[in-house]
Parts: sequence; C-alpha cells; structure tokens
Amino acid sequence: MNPSQRIFSVLLFLITSVLAACQKNAPPFLSQYEKIDILVQNAMVLDGLGTPARQADVAIVDDKIVFVGKAVFSGDDKINRIIKLIDATGLFLTPGFIDLHSHGDPLKTPEFENFLAMGVTTISLGQDGTSPDIAPLSDWLDEVKIRGIGPNLVMFVGHGTLREQSGIGQAAPASPEGLARMLSSLDETLEYTFGLSTGLEYNPGLYADRNELIALAQVVGKNDRLIMSHMRNEDDDKLEASIAELVAQGEFTRVHIAHLKSVFGKGKQRADEIIQLIIDARARGVEISADSYPYNASYTGISIVFPVWSKTQEQFDLVKTLRREELAEYLRNRVQRRNGPQATLLGSGEFTGKTLADVALEMEMPFEDVLIDIIGPQGANGAYFVMNEQLQSRILQSELVGVSSDGRIDGFHPRGHGTFAKIIEKYVVQENLLTLSEAVRKMTSLPAEILHISDRGIIREGLVADIVLFDPEKVHASATYPDPLQLAEGFHTVIVNGKIARFENRNAQELHGRVLQP
Ligand SMILES: [Zn+2]
Repeated sequence: MNPSQRIFSVLLFLITSVLAACQKNAPPFLSQYEKIDILVQNAMVLDGLGTPARQADVAIVDDKIVFVGKAVFSGDDKINRIIKLIDATGLFLTPGFIDLHSHGDPLKTPEFENFLAMGVTTISLGQDGTSPDIAPLSDWLDEVKIRGIGPNLVMFVGHGTLREQSGIGQAAPASPEGLARMLSSLDETLEYTFGLSTGLEYNPGLYADRNELIALAQVVGKNDRLIMSHMRNEDDDKLEASIAELVAQGEFTRVHIAHLKSVFGKGKQRADEIIQLIIDARARGVEISADSYPYNASYTGISIVFPVWSKTQEQFDLVKTLRREELAEYLRNRVQRRNGPQATLLGSGEFTGKTLADVALEMEMPFEDVLIDIIGPQGANGAYFVMNEQLQSRILQSELVGVSSDGRIDGFHPRGHGTFAKIIEKYVVQENLLTLSEAVRKMTSLPAEILHISDRGIIREGLVADIVLFDPEKVHASATYPDPLQLAEGFHTVIVNGKIARFENRNAQELHGRVLQP
C-alpha cells in the first residue's frame, strides 16, 4: 500500500464510521412523540387550498396532523413507534369533505354511513329554518355527544323552530313580545351553534317580514355567526328579490345562500348573472357565499307546489272546499311551469318511485286533483326536475360556491349518497369542468372558511386530522333516482379526528365524530 492508498483507506474508514455513528445516533422520526398513531406514506397530497398536489407522507398523533413531508425513519421506529402504516401509493390525500347543508337525525342514525362513504367528515344540520324542537338546543346536543356520531357535526338553530318556540307561530308580523322572546333565545343559542338557518319558503319562516329578518341578522352579527338561508323563492324570476332580501341581512352579519339554484332558469349566461349578484354584494362589503349540489332535481315536501295560503294542513283543510277551483288552477299552472307532472318524482308514501303523471294516469284523474284529493300539501316528499344542467354546472364552477349535499340518509334523492362522489366522478374525471384541486377546495377549505372553522379543512401541521384517501378514477356515485340509497364507492380510507372511520368501504365499529364548537 503506497502512502496515497493508505490515506485513502483511512479516509474511507473514517467516513464509514462517521456515517454508521450518525445512523445510530440519528434521532427517531418525530422524536418528541412516543408513538405515531398513523403514518400515511407516498400520498399525492392536496392541501385543500387549491394548490397543486405534491407527493408527501403525513403523520398523525392523537387527533392532529403533526407532519407533512418526506418522513425518514428507521426500521426500529417502524416496529416500535408507528402504530398504523398506510401505503398510499397511487392515492390522493385530501382534507375530509365538509358538507355545508345536510339533513338527518343523529339520535336515530348516528353512523351516517351515507356521508362517510362519500368522504364527508363534517355535516351541517339544523337547516332550512328547522332544528330539533328542544329548548335549550344544548340539551339535544348533549344527547348527541353521549350517543356519539360518525362524522363531525356543525349545528345551526332554525328560525322557524325559534318562531314556534317563542309563540309567534304563523303570526305576521310577529308581536313585539314574541319577537323579543325569539331574539333572546337566538342570542343564547348562538353561543354554541354556528348560526341561524332560515327557510323562508316554508312554514312558519315565510311569515317573517323585513323588520324581523333585520332584527335576527343584528343578533347573529353581534355573535359573529352566519345566516344560512333557504331563500324566499328560488324561481328564476324571483331570484333577484330573494338574494336582495338576504343581502339586506348581510349588512349586519355573514350570510350564505343554501343550495343556490334557479327553478326553470336556463343557460350559462343566466348563471353568470346570478353569480354576479353575489360578486356585486361582496364588492360592497357584504360577506356572502353560497353552496350548490350537482343534481338537476330538488327534493322537498310537496307543499312546495302549493300556494302560501294552503301549505299547512289547517290552511289546506279550510280552503279545500272554499277555494277549490282557485287552488286547482294554481296547482295546474305551478306544476306545469315546473316542467309538468312527469317532472315530479314522489319519494315518500305509497307512491314512492312514481311520478305525479304516473299517479294521475293510474287514478284516471287530473294531476291537480291527485294533489288535492289524494296527497295534500303534507302528504309526500318529491324530487322535482326543475333545473337546467348548464346553468347549475356553471354555478358549481364559480369559485364562490362550495359543495353541499342537501341530502339525508333516507331521502329518495341520490344527492344524499352521491353528491361528493359525483363531483369527483363527473365534474373532475369525466367532464373536466373542475380540476381536482379546485373541486377539493370547494369541499374542504372553502366550507371551513364559510363556517369559520379554523382547525379543519386544510392539510397542515397542527390542524385536526380529518382526512380522505382516494383514487379519483375509482370514485363512483352509485346512487340514482330510481335507486337513491346506494352508498358511494371508491374512497379508500376516511379518517375523522385522527381515527380511521371507514376503510375499504366499511365503517369502523366506533363513532369518531364530534359536536364542533363555533
Ligand atoms: Zn333547503
């Protein structure tokens, strides 16, 4: 060995010894934690903010995301400290989806498998002016906490429910005493709920006048909460007025248009006009946003086609004989205008799965007589094919519009089981109307921002681990109008509060959701 060879071998020895020592003394991965509950490896991470995906590993400890990046760990770490290792090669990892408008009773169906199966980790209940008729509402929420719930719950208090509880009922206008009672109970309930929902197309919300709506908005604004509104009228020629009414409340608080749609409006240009109303209001400083679902049929009680003066059973019983001709004419015109009786698919009661046209044919009577003599305003729910595909798709594409299902586990409409899967399957994969990162933003960080949820909806160290893993090509909304209760498929893993809530199309035994605090 000549001197240079000797120096070389000494150097080589030194380098290998130092490297070995380094490896031995390298601190374990995330050494500050005794254990890593879940490590997801090699995922394509979409943070929820609309930024492009990047390959990364994500570590979860307890209910938090503690690491996003390239995890370097030794075999010892893996054996001793990493409790669950998920190989996410070929999968996207995104925040769990947040449904801005959902329905259901967690005391009856706490698992909410329909929502978890489509990647939804947070639902929003108490919508359209109706929350559980329990005062204080905190008693009901306590019950939900005790029973447990699959996804997280964002709760709203319903204006219609408060109106009933305050003794105002269907009075118009509300008496000063009734109004005062309602406002004070709203004020108390907003302490632990995310806001007020209104259903101005429903009883008794429709009796609220401008004064009442402004008074409500002032209380909501004082509490820094949101008004989530099923607006007064979604008919195309009434949308301007309906949005203006909500914007007036928006002078005092944050406001939000639930399930933005145009009933019998058509075309992209009309969609742009509607979105422009929101843009204009925002330019004036009003904090207004909206959500929408990816279907062209709405779903609600059949009373939606009845006139204001015959929506309740009492009103209906009264006018059924007294104003029968007038009622029949109203129903005839209204249903025809809503694309006719063949566009009304009954979803509850004995005629489930049949259209109003089918029933009329079967009974050999005009459809308006079926509505009056057989069904009545409280007699059924229905899906109504009243929307235009181009218009609704355009609305969904707007960056101001988040995604909602407006669905329920037992509703005879595919949106309750399909919405979030359909956004990915149809809007992203099949039709390229949205990029995956934009679609995910609309289902995660945007709703979190609208609801003022600051610790979820984004993949970031320190935030709560509500996470979904999926291959977009495999996501499938199985629910259809004839068969609406089919669970969505293709979501590999759904994590709620750091726990695996659903894996390979099966729910976990335990319920991992929480009642969220505003
Ligand atoms: Zn609604």
